[in-house]
Amino acid sequence: MMSSEIANVVFLAAVFVGVIYASRILETRWPIADVPYSEFRDDWLAVIMSVGLANLLAPIAAMIAGKIANFTGIGWVRLPTEGYWWYASLGFVLVAMDLYKYTFHRLQHAIPFLWSMHSFHHSANAVTFITGARHFWLERVLADALLPIMAILLRVPPDMAIAAAFVFFLPDTCAHLNVRIPLGRFVTWINNPQWHRIHHSALMEHRDKNFAAFFPLWDILFGTAYVPKPDEYPATGLVPAERVDIINSVIWPIRHLRHRASKNELG
Ligand SMILES: [Zn+2]
Ligand SMILES: [Zn+2]
Repeated sequence: MMSSEIANVVFLAAVFVGVIYASRILETRWPIADVPYSEFRDDWLAVIMSVGLANLLAPIAAMIAGKIANFTGIGWVRLPTEGYWWYASLGFVLVAMDLYKYTFHRLQHAIPFLWSMHSFHHSANAVTFITGARHFWLERVLADALLPIMAILLRVPPDMAIAAAFVFFLPDTCAHLNVRIPLGRFVTWINNPQWHRIHHSALMEHRDKNFAAFFPLWDILFGTAYVPKPDEYPATGLVPAERVDIINSVIWPIRHLRHRASKNELG
């Protein structure tokens, strides 16, 4: 490994630790809900299993993605980047990415096969910053293997891709912060912990609401918005509540499909 690569790894690790640490300070200072240590530990276990398994399988995902890219080609549509066009194109990329995320997220709730994996994310009984990284490992592998449709459709220059990822970080990743941020009427402007908490709610009236990753406008336009009252911070998790351990973080969908079958029998 070259020394510049080592420096990069050290830098990224430092940023990672810094972000986690900052999130803990905020979550301790202005929490929405008290999180028992056991929930916090479960969340970390789920994230480590999921990221670890997905990384092991990354070469297979990359191989499949390569084959798809060879077949379809990538970057069908070239965006203008001269002068101020760069910003207009960035805006277009953000809106397109967000609409894609919104659509895919709704499918994850509507199609049983996808829900059997996505429910792993919703099984977090306490939503904290770490929950943002809690996704079933196969979901990650499939997303990488099936080469994001955006890369096939749009030719996004590398600097714009980095800028888009950076802009997305705030509303998307930070939506899971266990931090009370009173936004008042701006709660419908940009995704935030209260908006997304409704999506994770255990209450019936919040089910399949607030899918947006960046712009709650999609929820408003497509009829899936639930605008929370100023003090509305519901309990979160699946009903009935479920917990992860090492085994079921690997075989989650099988376990969950069985649950669903027994639930259906009961009506
Ligand atoms: Zn969801
Ligand atoms: Zn979430």
